[in-house]
Amino acid sequence: MGAVSEKILYDNLVQDRYAAKGVKPSNLVLWGEDIVNGRLILFPKKTDTLPEYDSICRTTTGASLIYFDKKKQQPVLFCDVRYDKQTQNVYMSADIFNNVWKLLKESVQTGIELKRDRGEAEEELPEGYVDLAFLKHKSSEAVVKNDRVEYVSKVLPEREQKARSKMQSALDNPAYRFFYAFDSGIYHDRDCEFIREIPPELFTAAAERPRTRKPCRRCLRIMCLRELCSPYVKQMPAVNRLLKRGDIGNNYLERLAFEYGIKLRADEDGSLIVVSAEDTWKISGFDKESLSLWQNNYIKTSSEERCITQGFHHKKTADGRTLFQMLERIRRYKYDPHFHENVAKAEAQQAVKDQTADEADEKKGLFKRIVGLFGRLFHKDKRN
Ligand SMILES: [Zn+2]
Repeated sequence: MGAVSEKILYDNLVQDRYAAKGVKPSNLVLWGEDIVNGRLILFPKKTDTLPEYDSICRTTTGASLIYFDKKKQQPVLFCDVRYDKQTQNVYMSADIFNNVWKLLKESVQTGIELKRDRGEAEEELPEGYVDLAFLKHKSSEAVVKNDRVEYVSKVLPEREQKARSKMQSALDNPAYRFFYAFDSGIYHDRDCEFIREIPPELFTAAAERPRTRKPCRRCLRIMCLRELCSPYVKQMPAVNRLLKRGDIGNNYLERLAFEYGIKLRADEDGSLIVVSAEDTWKISGFDKESLSLWQNNYIKTSSEERCITQGFHHKKTADGRTLFQMLERIRRYKYDPHFHENVAKAEAQQAVKDQTADEADEKKGLFKRIVGLFGRLFHKDKRN
C-alpha cells in the first residue's frame, strides 16, 4: 500500500484548528509534505549577516507551514516561513528549523514516499531537501545532525592549518603587539577586525612598531592605549574614558605612547595616574569643572639628589589647565635640584631690580619737585 497524503488524513483537523481559533490564518498555508516540490532553504537567525536576505524577502511571501505532532491529541502545528511561488522553495530561519525539524521531517518523509509512489523520487532522506548554503562560514560548515543545525570546522589542508595555528599562537603571545600582512603597508592591533582578513600564510607578528609601515587608522587608538597601559591592559577602557573627557586625540596619544614613553593608569578615585621618567603624577578633577595636577612627594638627600616618597603634592600653578597642557608639562618636566635656589636667586634679583626702580622713581619724584619749585620761583620772578 502506498503512502497517504497528510492533506487527506489531517485536513479535517486543520479545519477544526482554524475553527477553534475563530479565523483562518491570514498567511498562505503550506503543507510540510509539499517541501519536496522545491527545497527547504535555511537562513541565519541574524539576517543582517546575509546580504541576500533583502532579495529573498522581495521574491517571497510570508506563509504558515503545517507540521504535526502525531502523538498529541491536537496534532496540528504551524511555523512561520517564506515561500517562493515560482520555485516552490520554502525559506526558514535556522533557529525555527532547530525547533521543528524533528516533527516536520516526518511530513517531508511522507512527501518523499508520495513522490516515490509516482516514480518521481529524487532524494532518499528528508535532509536531502534541506539547503544549508546560506549558513556557510569561512571556517565552518553547517550540517544537520540530531535534527538540528550544527556547525563543524572545515577540514583545512595541513599547510593552512599550520599557518592558522601559528597565527593564533602569535596573537595569544603578549610579547607581540603589532600585526600585519606581509604584503601590506598597514599594521594593526590584535583586537582590530581587519586581522581576520589577513591570509594566515601572509600573517606577520612584531614586538616593535614596524617602522616602514603605517598604523591602521581604525585601531591606532587601541594600539596607543595598549602601549600606554601595558602591562595592565585591563585599564585601557577606563584610561580611554579619561583621555576622551580631556579631548586627547589620536595623534597626540601616539606621541605620548611611542615617543615620550609615558605610562598611564586610572586611579580608583577617578583620577589619571601618569608615569613619566622617574616621577609619578596624578591629574584629578575629571568630574569637576577644572583639573588639578599633583606630583609625587620627594625629599632632597643631597645638593644634587632626591628621594621620592609617598603621597602627592598639589601643583597649584597648573590649576584649571587643559589635560593636554598638563601632560605636556609632565613630559617636559626634569627634576632641577637647584630649583628653589634658582627661584630664590631670581626673586632676589627681582627685588634688587624693584628697589632700584623704586629709588629711580623716588629720584625722579624729587627731581620733579625741585623743577616745580624752581618753576614756581621763576614765575614769581616774572610776575615781579
Ligand atoms: Zn587595524
